[in-house]
Amino acid sequence: MPASRRRSSLTRRFAVVSLVGMAVVGVALVLVASSQMRSQAVRDGTSLAATVAAYASAATPADAYVTGVLADADQAAVAAATAGFSAELVELRLWSQDGRLMYSSRAAGTGLPHSDRFDLVLREGEPVAAVQPDVRGAGDAAPAAQKQTVLDVYVPVHAADIRGTVTGVDADEVVGAAEVMLDHTTTQETLTSTVRTVALVVAGSLVVLWLLLFRIVHSTSRRLRTAALENARLAMLDSLTGLPNRRLLSEQMQRAVREAGEDGSRVGLILLDIDRFKDINDTLGHDHGDALLELVAARLRNALRDDDVVARLGGDEFAILLPDVRSVANAERLARRVRGLFAAPFELGDLALHVDTSVGVACLPDHADDPSSLMRTADIAMYAAKHQRSGVSVYSPDADDSSPARLVLMGELHAALEEHESARAAGDGGTGGDALGVPPVAQLEMHYQPKIELASQRTVGLEALMRWRHPTRGLVGPGTFVPLAEQSGLIHRLTSFALDAAVRQLAQWSADGTAVPVAVNLSAHDVADPAVVDTIEELLARHRVRPELLEVEITETALVADRSRVVPVLERLGALGVRVAIDDFGTGTTSISQLRDLPVDELKIDRVFVADLGDGGREGSEVVVQAMVDLAHSFGLRVVAEGVEDEGTARTLARLGVDQAQGYLWARPAPPEEVRPPGDTARGSHPSLHPIG
Ligand code: C2E
Ligand code: CA
Ligand code: CA
Repeated sequence: MPASRRRSSLTRRFAVVSLVGMAVVGVALVLVASSQMRSQAVRDGTSLAATVAAYASAATPADAYVTGVLADADQAAVAAATAGFSAELVELRLWSQDGRLMYSSRAAGTGLPHSDRFDLVLREGEPVAAVQPDVRGAGDAAPAAQKQTVLDVYVPVHAADIRGTVTGVDADEVVGAAEVMLDHTTTQETLTSTVRTVALVVAGSLVVLWLLLFRIVHSTSRRLRTAALENARLAMLDSLTGLPNRRLLSEQMQRAVREAGEDGSRVGLILLDIDRFKDINDTLGHDHGDALLELVAARLRNALRDDDVVARLGGDEFAILLPDVRSVANAERLARRVRGLFAAPFELGDLALHVDTSVGVACLPDHADDPSSLMRTADIAMYAAKHQRSGVSVYSPDADDSSPARLVLMGELHAALEEHESARAAGDGGTGGDALGVPPVAQLEMHYQPKIELASQRTVGLEALMRWRHPTRGLVGPGTFVPLAEQSGLIHRLTSFALDAAVRQLAQWSADGTAVPVAVNLSAHDVADPAVVDTIEELLARHRVRPELLEVEITETALVADRSRVVPVLERLGALGVRVAIDDFGTGTTSISQLRDLPVDELKIDRVFVADLGDGGREGSEVVVQAMVDLAHSFGLRVVAEGVEDEGTARTLARLGVDQAQGYLWARPAPPEEVRPPGDTARGSHPSLHPIG
């Protein structure tokens, strides 16, 4: 608002200044013109007066100027000589050099000349004129209405002008003066009316000019303002989708945060980006990528309230600002709805594209106290969603690199590991510890989830999944602390712990005669380093566990990230007899044929594909899974499906030829003592195990 007020005041200021300027110019113009005309009129009168004076002088004898007396005959001669001017002449007076009145055409006997002008004329020898009201005879019965103006001209009379000569006087010497009063009334009136006309014309044309100018200035300034507004609007909008851009969003966010501070309300920020957008761009081309972004923008905009601001931050990143959200839970609910918008495929020409998104949610004042930290926390939440592939994630300080809570957690994880390692060292030395050599105060533990052979519904393996029994936080999942360990370099020690615990457990189950293969997850950091193979070899040897009982799972992304270093590690593991599974398959960019040459035994189809097979899943997912299964089988790979939660999905997987499956349908990951030994029919079924039949 202030900018537009400033602009309008600029136009007003221009109007005032230009109006004053024009008025000054107009007045000056009229003044100059009228004074020119006035002096021209005076000049004309003066020259007429000089002519009259010349006629009069020629009729006066020289001695009259000496005596100051003009004989009657001479007076008559003067009157006769000037009779032709009677129309213009108001009065003619002749003055001698010493100021005596020799003659007056009005027959006034006495009088005095206007001393200043008279002296000036005698001194300079030039006529002196003055315009003045005709005041003569004011005392007489002159009618008041007859307001005359006269041009009163004193014309010098030179010795040469007069009849005869004055002894001892040069021809060019001034011997007296003729005072010629001319009627100036009509001239004056004409002048006044002319000046009035000129003034009117000048004023009129100036007003027209000013109006013209003002119109131009006004319309120009309006055009400029519109252009400036349009530019500002464009600078605030994303050119592809027409959504507000990052700048506009941050302005809106600032306003929302300010208002929230005033009325104690809550501001929510939802960030989302399209999973694997780069792949879509690379494989389908940028045109399709752009078209997809436009469709996403339209879907987001149509689904939200008018108050909510949908913005594109650039690339495939979008933001939704909720200026007034009731609770964090509400913001999360909305985020889930937003993610749900991606369930239906996007139609790109004759292509129906399925895309997924990771959504992060943060709220102020719950997670941040200013706009920039709100943006940061929502960003962290989005990355957490991506990393954990949970789809939607609300900000948690655990996932925040820089949060004090995260630093504390890192310290605690370090301490927990330390405790384990020293206890293990002590246990190996033969003192303390229980049968497994695990310290009683253990915070880190491995849980196990069965792998079910779909054809027989039997448990044919287990996946070891780490848990942290935190003294105050309760049971913490690996999604929270594994990334932390990966970033802080603790991951190798964490992996050693996992391998150690799994191999010890295997040793015990082997001793019980209930052993099935156990798979341990390796981090990308582990498989780039041959040391992990040494660790595994040493553990198997120490606990006398057959290598076929141990499997490792590495993610597809870890495999492609550093292939040249990972492949030798896999080859050594293969040579050792340890089986290798590719985890989370389908989320990365590997094609199955790339796996053909790798020492890999098993393919674990990622949860997202499996989820799509259930009710409400995406069409066409069956075809994708079928293709994966067929190709994997043709390379001799075993196929395992993760995250099976319902029977329908299990049946579909079986029909598609998937070999094994894991999921809550059969069992959640559980501590080893709760895992039913596969051969132990005597113990019956564990409550968490529900085989389908
Ligand atoms: P992952 O290897 O893909 O493990 C499968 C995850 O899916 C586990 O989560 C498991 O509890 C969960 N899950 C199993 N069945 C179902 C189901 O039916 N539905 C759903 N929604 N989820 C199911 P968890 O235990 O939280 O582990 C998360 C991730 O952390 C693992 O993903 C793995 O990448 C990593 N991780 C777990 N343990 C370790 C470990 O010891 N070392 C390393 N480096 N990473 C580990
Ligand atoms: Ca795994
Ligand atoms: Ca997995």
